[in-house]
Amino acid sequence: MDNEQVAACDGSSRRSSAVLATQCHSLLEAIAGLGQTGSVAQHVVVVVVVVQRVYSIPVPSASIASIRLHSKTSSAAPPLEQGKRRLCVLVQDSFGMFSVVQLHLLDRDDLRQYCRAWLGRTCVLRGVKVVQRVTRERRSSLFSLIDSLWPPLKQPRECHGNAASMPSKRPPSFCYVLSGQESSVEPVEESSSVSPLHLPSTGQTLRDVLQNDHKTYCCSFIATVIYKRIQRCDVGQGEVWLVLTDQSLQGSSPDWPCRRTVPLHVNASCALTSCVLKALNDPAVCRLSFTDAIKEHGFLLCVEHSIIEVADSVDSRLTQEPPAQPARLDPLHVEVTPNSLCTLTGVIVGVDESASYSLPVCSQCGSHELQPIPPPGWSFHCVSCNSTMDKPITKVQMEVFLSSASVQNCTIKVKCSDYDVSTVLGKEVGPLTLYVRVVSRRPSLWISLEEICL
Ligand SMILES: [Zn+2]
Repeated sequence: MDNEQVAACDGSSRRSSAVLATQCHSLLEAIAGLGQTGSVAQHVVVVVVVVQRVYSIPVPSASIASIRLHSKTSSAAPPLEQGKRRLCVLVQDSFGMFSVVQLHLLDRDDLRQYCRAWLGRTCVLRGVKVVQRVTRERRSSLFSLIDSLWPPLKQPRECHGNAASMPSKRPPSFCYVLSGQESSVEPVEESSSVSPLHLPSTGQTLRDVLQNDHKTYCCSFIATVIYKRIQRCDVGQGEVWLVLTDQSLQGSSPDWPCRRTVPLHVNASCALTSCVLKALNDPAVCRLSFTDAIKEHGFLLCVEHSIIEVADSVDSRLTQEPPAQPARLDPLHVEVTPNSLCTLTGVIVGVDESASYSLPVCSQCGSHELQPIPPPGWSFHCVSCNSTMDKPITKVQMEVFLSSASVQNCTIKVKCSDYDVSTVLGKEVGPLTLYVRVVSRRPSLWISLEEICL
């Protein structure tokens, strides 16, 4: 590939800041030409693409450290850099080829403005460099997103006898990661509306999502979060488990693989905006919109390209009514997976003495995050609800073994509280609302559960 061919891939030329730019419609031809044109300052190749997705990726801590090193500020992490992410766009040319373009750093809450400006628009791409070529085998989550955009809405163009740049009828097996700046992406002036080649994510019900039997599958839905476990790390960088449901799971009979509720893992690479964090930290049930989440081997997962938003702030025309509270749960069954919810009725057949203890909890909210208030006395401050009390309540935490008629040949251990240890054996309990902590299947089925309140 030489310069003439790059310039010839489309006849039209375009004047931009007194630099002659040649418009090209093929990402691969433009990329092939980058090596040679990079040094020719007066001749720039711009590529016409459709912005299919706008998202952000985490900035590796090493590159934040190097920014810090250069800025020569104090050794403490400047709060401004926390929560910085790199803006990314997934673009597609009219031959069907995709590229990821990594752009400038932004605050996690600023993504929306770029979605509004670029998503679905025909844009020109200029001043980009090749970072790497990635393959389907190495970046399965990116390619599940690409697969969800395949086939293109319009038959891809035939390339001028250049087999290298012509993707086949199948989705591409590789794509280039490019880097650029904010000015590298510019909507084409005449396209104030969404391109006919843009394929937006379409919302589904959770039932549709669970019934899809693709091994790895990109999906979008709105769901009610009925339970959450947030591992406290940096704000917005933590690993989060959510238990979701919607009317499609609550309303009809649960037949496998459909359940009443489904767990979703939010990977630490997925951006949680301050709005979403606020909703998740609120004890009330919230509804979230998940765009381009991944279902892999039956599990739901949000990764770096997935977008989570508070459902009330997104278009709600296609959403269903939130399910009635409290949500209905599945009874414990042998196929149960960790981090899901279930109910169970059973008889206490044993107490794990080593795991039983009593602890002081807040008399207002039940939290165990209490701090003694100096001078040493009997006064405590609750970190969770901010109240002060003289006497916390003593709560007995214990782990008991249950036997249940509904799940046979299985050791069931439940972490629960508020039972009188002396009278607990032989007592029938339930239905308990339980969070599944661990499921071990070897040498025999062993399920560890924790009693929770919804
Ligand atoms: Zn409290």
